[in-house]
Amino acid sequence: MKQRIFRSTGILIAVAVLFTFLLTSVVYYQDYSKEIKSGVQVEAEYLKKVLEETGDSYLTQDIGNLTQNRLTLIDMDGTVLFDSIEEPADMENHSDRPEFIEARKTGTGIENRLSATLNENTYYYALLLKNGEVIRVACTSRSIFATLTSSFTMIILILIIVLSLALVVIRYRSIKLIEPINQIDLEHPLENDVYEELAPLLRRLDIQNNQIEEQLRQIKQNHEEYLAITENMKDGMIITNKSVVLGINKAATELFGVDVKDCLHKNILTVSRNVIIKESLDMAIAGHSTEKILEMNGRVLQILANPVSIEAGHSGAVLLILDITEKQQAEAMRREFSANVSHELKTPLMSISGYAELMMNRMVKDTDIPEFSSRIYDEANRLRTLVEDIIKLSRLDEADGQLAFETVDLLSITQDVSSCLQLQAKKRDIQMTIEGKKTEMFGVRQVLYEMIFNLCDNAIKYNKDHGQIYIKISSTRSTITWKIMDTGIGIEKEHQDRIFERFYRVDKSHSRETGGTGLGLSIVKHGAMLHKGNIKVESEIGEGTKISIEFQKNSENQ
Ligand code: ADP
Repeated sequence: MKQRIFRSTGILIAVAVLFTFLLTSVVYYQDYSKEIKSGVQVEAEYLKKVLEETGDSYLTQDIGNLTQNRLTLIDMDGTVLFDSIEEPADMENHSDRPEFIEARKTGTGIENRLSATLNENTYYYALLLKNGEVIRVACTSRSIFATLTSSFTMIILILIIVLSLALVVIRYRSIKLIEPINQIDLEHPLENDVYEELAPLLRRLDIQNNQIEEQLRQIKQNHEEYLAITENMKDGMIITNKSVVLGINKAATELFGVDVKDCLHKNILTVSRNVIIKESLDMAIAGHSTEKILEMNGRVLQILANPVSIEAGHSGAVLLILDITEKQQAEAMRREFSANVSHELKTPLMSISGYAELMMNRMVKDTDIPEFSSRIYDEANRLRTLVEDIIKLSRLDEADGQLAFETVDLLSITQDVSSCLQLQAKKRDIQMTIEGKKTEMFGVRQVLYEMIFNLCDNAIKYNKDHGQIYIKISSTRSTITWKIMDTGIGIEKEHQDRIFERFYRVDKSHSRETGGTGLGLSIVKHGAMLHKGNIKVESEIGEGTKISIEFQKNSENQ
């Protein structure tokens, strides 16, 4: 800005000085030449009068020396009769001179002639005398060009001085002028006290500052909302522009095992080179929504690709990656469970209908009828237990917070179960011992009852005759533990993890003999899950089994 002020003011001053010089020179020169002309005219008039009265003898060399002008007397044929500077004999005939011709014609002849170098200007004034001769007075002065040229150096000098002085002053003034502008606080434009002329600009700045601030706040809020949504999503999400990754959330980076900074604003190949991802993206970019399944690192992922259209064209895509491994496993389990259920239900039903058919067709001796009826009764009981267990399991499956939680004393439940199973235990001379004090926890009474019932029932079923069952309820500051130990047949290591699966039995025939459904421990597992309990199995073949469930105490499980 300072340089611009310098440059424009400098040019302005230079032009002004030159223009003033030219104008003044022209005006002065005109005044000066007017004066010369009138002097020449007066002198010519005077000489005309004198010469007409006294004759040509008046013109002597002395008269010529008295004046600065050149005097020339020309005869009527153009012959020079007298000249105050040159010898008349050396001078050529003047009959062709315009001032002479004009004077001869009108009585007065005027002529202005520039020298060949343009440096001099001669003014001629000629008057016709009565005797036909012409008296001419000429004055030679410097031409306007010569005048201007001679003072040019001086003008340049003046120009330099004026310019230098002006630039010093301008520099000082411009610094003073610009200083307040430099000190303007652009963050708070309205708080500045500067030139009045800048007020509209500052107001506009303030408005724009506010608008920018508001837009930034809005952008930040949108970004935070976007992050809050995408980062907390458990499904992966990738947003692309063509195949360049514009955004990828935490879940997606975890699923593909990549780092955000390694793939953001880079090709989708930096996230995954899998052909299904590429195909889904290509379809979405072409404007078609797709849904594909991708199996990766033991996980089953569902890829939902949707085009993102900006105005007319489809420029990008959103890929949603859903981890459906558990869902698929649950579905597979459900399918397997349904198949198992129908199989398990069919077996006792077939037996019942078989025995009933034999009896109906009178193919059973009267003495065998009690035996057959008892078998039908047992199978019907088995069926009932099975149906009850299935109902219990599905109730736990669907529970979803609908079961009523209350304060339950584990000791009293254990004692109830023990007395309920006493007869069964006695039959095989198995002794049941309960150790522990009143221990309350927040839970679903019915479920907890079924859990301990199944565990004790198993401890009897898979025990040896004259065996022992030892149930212990203990608690620490943060946990409550329910332990059921038996001196039974034990479970081999390879089966220990699987006994909680639905319909899984180590020894099918033994389980059937004892009336087991294969669902008892599944109910225990689901019950423990409902109460956020942890199950542990320790077992040695031939020595016995110890199953413990540990519950975490919370504010309610005191
Ligand atoms: P079941 O109705 O067959 O008893 P469970 O789900 O209760 O079904 O148990 C699954 C299997 O685990 C049983 O068939 C049995 O082989 C084994 N099992 C369960 N509890 C014990 C135990 N205390 N001692 C030995 N084996 C056991």
